[in-house]
Amino acid sequence: MVLVPGKPAVAPSILPWLEAPLRQALAHSQGHALLIHGPRGVGQFELARALAAAWLCEQGQAAAGATDPATPRRPACGHCRSCQMIAARTHPDLQLLVPEALQVTLGWSGSDDAADGEGGKSKAKPSRDIRIEAVRRAIAFSQQTSSRGGDKVIVMYPAERMNAASASALLKTLEEPPGTARLILASAAPQRLLPTVRSRCQSLRLPVPDTAAAAAWLAGQGGAEPERLLAAAGGQPLEALERLALGIDASLWRQLPAEVVAGRCAVLAAWPLPLAIDALQKLCHDALCVAHGAAPRYFAAETVPRGADPAQLWDCGRELLAAARHGEHPWNAALAVEALVQRLGRALQPGSARPAASGSTDSLRQSQGDRSDRLAGPRSGRLSTPHPIG
Ligand SMILES: [Zn+2]
Repeated sequence: MVLVPGKPAVAPSILPWLEAPLRQALAHSQGHALLIHGPRGVGQFELARALAAAWLCEQGQAAAGATDPATPRRPACGHCRSCQMIAARTHPDLQLLVPEALQVTLGWSGSDDAADGEGGKSKAKPSRDIRIEAVRRAIAFSQQTSSRGGDKVIVMYPAERMNAASASALLKTLEEPPGTARLILASAAPQRLLPTVRSRCQSLRLPVPDTAAAAAWLAGQGGAEPERLLAAAGGQPLEALERLALGIDASLWRQLPAEVVAGRCAVLAAWPLPLAIDALQKLCHDALCVAHGAAPRYFAAETVPRGADPAQLWDCGRELLAAARHGEHPWNAALAVEALVQRLGRALQPGSARPAASGSTDSLRQSQGDRSDRLAGPRSGRLSTPHPIG
């Protein structure tokens, strides 16, 4: 998940590529439920937060009320009592629904959701889902009178982390929110939301920002070779910043293809498993592009291995996709990365031909199956949501 280090909960300034979408949302979001969606790492949560702050900003409410109630709100002033309370995470008319596992990362720890564990003191692994208890609390919140006399706002992120029961519980409130309640659902995977949820929301799509603007912002965050960092992150600047915070800079990214070809996985050892699999998928994708005479998307052209057999790459890509679907499962990450690096390393060898049906691919799959048995964690419940691949 993305976080701008040191960024306050609500900043008077907003990420530069979000200024236009914020004004668009303030001008045109007349409904009570808004779905902000787009690729991961472009700022859905940041926009949702800025929009909530603008709706709750008391200076903006006074200005709009003094003219015409239909006058579009302005971005939050950052100074009024409401803005101060949002910055302090104490605004009584704002409720944020974020999975417990994301609260610290997003700088919003200590919300009511922390009490979702059994007895409120559970030592269980923080939940990655938006639990039905949190949704029910949000519904009750929406039914209460506004504490400050203005709107009440619920922000839900990532909205696709609601399970079916949570989403069903929310439907009536989405259909007919009580009083002045407004809901903002932010999501990088809206296709995973129930159609009945999507259909009740006004939609606002966030595109991948302009490369020049995003690169300039990333350079300002201390990122060397920002264009390369952006390409590695699929053009998503917050994703690129998150990688930088993990030590994944342009130099390391440039080394990666040669390391994989050599079957060495040390460079990936410290990466979160979903990120390591994502990198291998991107390398496989780019090698396929090069094999078909197209330009690579994520890696510098001179670093992408050439001469590999496309059929081998397709096979490998399918296996990487299957691994990505389980990328947040509590596997032994080191063993998983080692197996996948060696698999892709073989597929990237020049002139590597597709083996016969009884050949090495089947053997490999058998081997991986054996290994998966060894890698599988003790828990066998529902798998976590897969990491989206840029
Ligand atoms: Zn304000």
